[in-house]
Amino acid sequence: MLSELISYEPATGAELWRGQTSDVDTEVAKARSAWPKWAAAPLSERIERIRIFANRVRADLEQFADTIARETGKPLWEARTEVESVVNKVDISVRAYADRTSQRRLDGKIGTRTALRHKPHGVLAVLGPYNFPAHLPNGHIVPALIAGNAIVFKPSEKTPATGAMLVDYYHKAGIPQDAVRLVQGGPDTGKALSTHPDIDGLLFTGSAQTGIALNRQFAHRPDKILALEMGGNNPIIAWDTRDIHSAAVLIIQSAFLSAGQRCTAARRLVVRDTLYDQLVGEVKKIADRLIIGDPHSEPPPFMGPVIDKDVCDNLIESYLALMSRGGRPIKHLKVAEQGRPFLTPGIIDVTDMDDRPDIELFGPLLQVIRVPDFTSAIIEANNTRFGLSASLIGGTPEQYDEFWANSRAGIVNWNAPTNGASSSAPFGGVGLSGNHRPSAYYAADYCAYPVVSSENDVPKAMLGIGLKDEEVAPVLIEE
Ligand code: NAD
Repeated sequence: MLSELISYEPATGAELWRGQTSDVDTEVAKARSAWPKWAAAPLSERIERIRIFANRVRADLEQFADTIARETGKPLWEARTEVESVVNKVDISVRAYADRTSQRRLDGKIGTRTALRHKPHGVLAVLGPYNFPAHLPNGHIVPALIAGNAIVFKPSEKTPATGAMLVDYYHKAGIPQDAVRLVQGGPDTGKALSTHPDIDGLLFTGSAQTGIALNRQFAHRPDKILALEMGGNNPIIAWDTRDIHSAAVLIIQSAFLSAGQRCTAARRLVVRDTLYDQLVGEVKKIADRLIIGDPHSEPPPFMGPVIDKDVCDNLIESYLALMSRGGRPIKHLKVAEQGRPFLTPGIIDVTDMDDRPDIELFGPLLQVIRVPDFTSAIIEANNTRFGLSASLIGGTPEQYDEFWANSRAGIVNWNAPTNGASSSAPFGGVGLSGNHRPSAYYAADYCAYPVVSSENDVPKAMLGIGLKDEEVAPVLIEE
């Protein structure tokens, strides 16, 4: 049954968007009917339309960024970088398609051509998260369209305005209305879409909880492609370094950018005990100075609110639970202003806590763990079912080698934040962070399947072995 969906600006509580949830059957049917024509269009034409899309978005950068900032609460400067990522995704995806899934001639037997080509899957559903409501679904949609798929996209129910705007840009660029369909709604609509018999696959970015449910749902459908981009419980190790300030800045960026609402955000700081007082003191000092404010406020804030009041309340509850189980507060996670979901960044030492929960706390909360030696640091970093990103700050080249070799994560950095990954590289994780279908540059891989063909101009063949001698017909002599 259709119902009303409303999006409120987290920073002000003002209503931003109001509309109806969508009928999934209708939208999937439209995409299904449009798919053959889109798939049959020359690649150059599909690319041309998608380049026009990029130009439209570029021309509209300020307006699009404004909507994203209002709807997510992220600072305007950050929303602008999200729009830039949407634009840049187009060139990157054109390159990735050519590099990873283009046509190729392979070596074959003499006289035989062996051709490698790729085909689109058909109609792909895309489910998006709220934290990067344009960049991340676009990261699936652009490569899927280039490959010749039709799309049914459901944005997060917390960011319908951004989702609607994104789809509008595709249509204004001349991508057929029915080749990209928008479905508005919450988890129930998501379920109706992901279980729809007429989709050929699902490209998902969101929480591990939802991803696991989807994985279960697709377990008896090996014929459908399923790409899962999920969360993390990411570690950042701080080891010997003379530049304590830079180390602290990298930790702050990793933990608190986007108010900690990044899948790659550092959740756990693993720090050498001899460095602890100085480094954690510096991290706290900088965290105390971070400006938290409305997306459009001046001077520009470092971070805005979290997405809504429920998320805010749950984070505070999780923080109190850590404290009640032995966590020692270094800087309290607090509601900055009653009634609005602004949080001050929290830092808590959980070294002495038994059974630390291995869950993703998706907000500005950093847990600190003291360790005596580098081996313990690596064990602690890997002490998670997730495996998205991990960073080492400081240490020697040999220690970085050891960290790199032993880290279980898809992104392993040295003296760089855990977040801020490049779209020109593959992006994905192991463990509960993904199902080995990395996105970004490697998204091309899950948007098409390879077809190999051995080809000869004429049928010419002979069996050289395993044949009985040809029977010679007996000659009958007439008497
Ligand atoms: P979410 O899992 O709650 O929702 C994601 C999408 O799935 C939404 O569109 C939602 O409506 C839909 N959905 C929810 N339950 C569903 C169900 N049972 N069946 C079908 N659809 C359903 O995620 P979120 O809270 O919007 O986003 C934050 C999460 O996304 C965090 O865990 C974060 O780490 C993760 N994330 C991962 C990446 C990545 O690339 N690995 C990037 C950004 C965010």
